[in-house]
Amino acid sequence: MKNQKKIFLVLLLICVVAVGIFLYTEGWFDANPEPTTTPVPNPITSGIKVHYIDVGQGDSIFIELPDSRCMLIDAGEKEYGPTVVGYINKLGYSSIDILVITHPHTDHMGGMQHVIESLVIKKVYMPNATNSTKAFENMVKAIQEEGCPVVVAKAGVNILKETNLLIDILAPNSTDYESLNDYSAVVKLTYGQHRFLFMGDAETTSEKEITADVSCDFIKVGHHGSTTSSGSSFVKATGAKYAIIQVGTGNDYGHPKEKIVERWENAGATILRTDLDGNIVISTDGTNFHISTSKGDVTVDNTQDVGQTTNKWILNTGSKKIHCSDCSSVEKIDPSNYAESTDSIAELINQGYTTCGTCKPAD
Ligand SMILES: [Zn+2]
Ligand SMILES: [Zn+2]
Repeated sequence: MKNQKKIFLVLLLICVVAVGIFLYTEGWFDANPEPTTTPVPNPITSGIKVHYIDVGQGDSIFIELPDSRCMLIDAGEKEYGPTVVGYINKLGYSSIDILVITHPHTDHMGGMQHVIESLVIKKVYMPNATNSTKAFENMVKAIQEEGCPVVVAKAGVNILKETNLLIDILAPNSTDYESLNDYSAVVKLTYGQHRFLFMGDAETTSEKEITADVSCDFIKVGHHGSTTSSGSSFVKATGAKYAIIQVGTGNDYGHPKEKIVERWENAGATILRTDLDGNIVISTDGTNFHISTSKGDVTVDNTQDVGQTTNKWILNTGSKKIHCSDCSSVEKIDPSNYAESTDSIAELINQGYTTCGTCKPAD
């Protein structure tokens, strides 16, 4: 009798635990979630995610990179430091692998002191430019205390180079400018077929100096849509499909200027603005992309994007192989056997080519 009671109690206990686990995994206990102070670590492991954080009149872009790495470009005004850190923590990150401070204006670096003091910073990129503000002084002090390497941001500096991922600095190209904005580190990130350009506050003087390829799909418009930036020829050269403007509602400068918004629109770009859309998040696996904002998802047509309509294949005319542009074999092709083609795979096969077994190119 005593034994039966024991068995009954054990079974009851098992039932209670099982029901508990079921409810927990089904999310029943999350009905009224308390905000946790420690971040739930869920950094992404593949693809990239670019977050244009709404920091009012200022810039801050957080980029999730493959293998749980991340990058931050600017941190808004001082008052937005906690917003930026909170945003990053919530995504599960407590350190920044690559920190870019585009230029020493407070709407870009004001929040940096808080960012540097709150997170582990692995490496800093900033242009050779100074400012006499307290915010700049505090930031420099914070970087010194962090003790991480600091690299001068200028044209030609490569930040990352991997099979599918390339991050380069395209500007500044000179060492002396009248406007502090022209010292802005201009960053280009290419992931698979998608290219992102981040202009900081670079003005037309800097735009005209850039010799590197500025073509891109997504551009963070220079200087909050001011007429000092986005020169006509530059806008055309980017061919951007989406122009993102980081700007504060009712700001004192009248940013963005209507003329500049129209210029991007007339060039075929869809405008996204942090003052109207809130946070803007663009994610891509290298082929397809997705855009969401605080106001909801943005409908995108992936079929009209680069990968589908303007496939550019790399050919090895020696081995008669077709490669995707990001295939690791591409750099091994002898220059005398290197060719590019926009023909369809079927047409190329007709011409005697076969597809690479590694990158498996397909229309
Ligand atoms: Zn500026
Ligand atoms: Zn600015």
